[in-house]
Amino acid sequence: MNMAFNFVPEASSATSATLSLPDPMAEKYDTILYLVRQTTGASHVVVQLDGAPVQPVPHDLACIQVPIVHQGKRIGLLRAFANEFASGASHLLAGFAILVAEHHALWSVAHCDMLTRALTRRAFMGDLGRAVATWQRSATPCSLIMFDLDHFKQINDTHGHALGDSVLRAVTHVVQSELRPADRLGRLGGEEFAVLLLVDAEAAVEIAERLRRVIEGTTLREFPHIEFTASLGVATCSPEINSREALIDTADAYLYEAKREGRNRVKGAVSVLELDQLD
Ligand code: GH3
Ligand code: MG
Ligand code: MG
Repeated sequence: MNMAFNFVPEASSATSATLSLPDPMAEKYDTILYLVRQTTGASHVVVQLDGAPVQPVPHDLACIQVPIVHQGKRIGLLRAFANEFASGASHLLAGFAILVAEHHALWSVAHCDMLTRALTRRAFMGDLGRAVATWQRSATPCSLIMFDLDHFKQINDTHGHALGDSVLRAVTHVVQSELRPADRLGRLGGEEFAVLLLVDAEAAVEIAERLRRVIEGTTLREFPHIEFTASLGVATCSPEINSREALIDTADAYLYEAKREGRNRVKGAVSVLELDQLD
């Protein structure tokens, strides 16, 4: 698959850019949801962002829902459920939907990298810590893919920093398109990124190989001759790799093994070749 991207030197606004980011962390709306319940008589309220995992809802209650709109675009639904709503509930809910949109936009500005729309290092590390804690509690698998663009300095030096920025945006866009809403993509710094996935080692290596291929197959529409690739390292929580730091160190070590072995490849405890043989 070859994906072509328009070369756009200027970053688009962080607020509108990040609104499409899948957001499974609904607890950040707790205060607003509390106010909706207090004023509308609803017993159950959910923020259902487009692209995010579907929130459970009661099926035996009446429902009012209003679109959450930001800069003229629908980004989700605010849904309230009750046996009986207070008068004016629809009107109030519409007002709260505006508040949710503003809250979400602010959250995105604080947690997402302006250039690429990926999570900032700090936000990503928070999610990674929570995923490792969940693995410790309930054995939910947790894998980390770290990747770094190959010879990126050369791209900047040859074609300019603005084009380098476009490559970073194109890469994050295609990677995000390959991921599921609950997966997290973070920019750790410069041209180094990380993906958090709640999957086992085999699945993580398979996904990493898919990301490697999709990055290799991406071009900028105006500069189709410029090629770029990435090297990827994969680590998965296990009795030996049982902390956030161990996960990062292991993925990082595999990433540098991929660099040493020639770049544009995936390295992890399971090899891509072994996976191919299992198919
Ligand atoms: P390797 O394959 O070993 O990773 O080589 P590399 O050239 O990618 O690695 P190196 O660390 O030597 O260079 C990374 C470059 O990434 C240097 C830096 O200018 C560039 N870079 C970091 N952040 C940005 C950014 O936001 N925009 C652009 N255009 N370049 C960036
Ligand atoms: Mg690099
Ligand atoms: Mg680097």
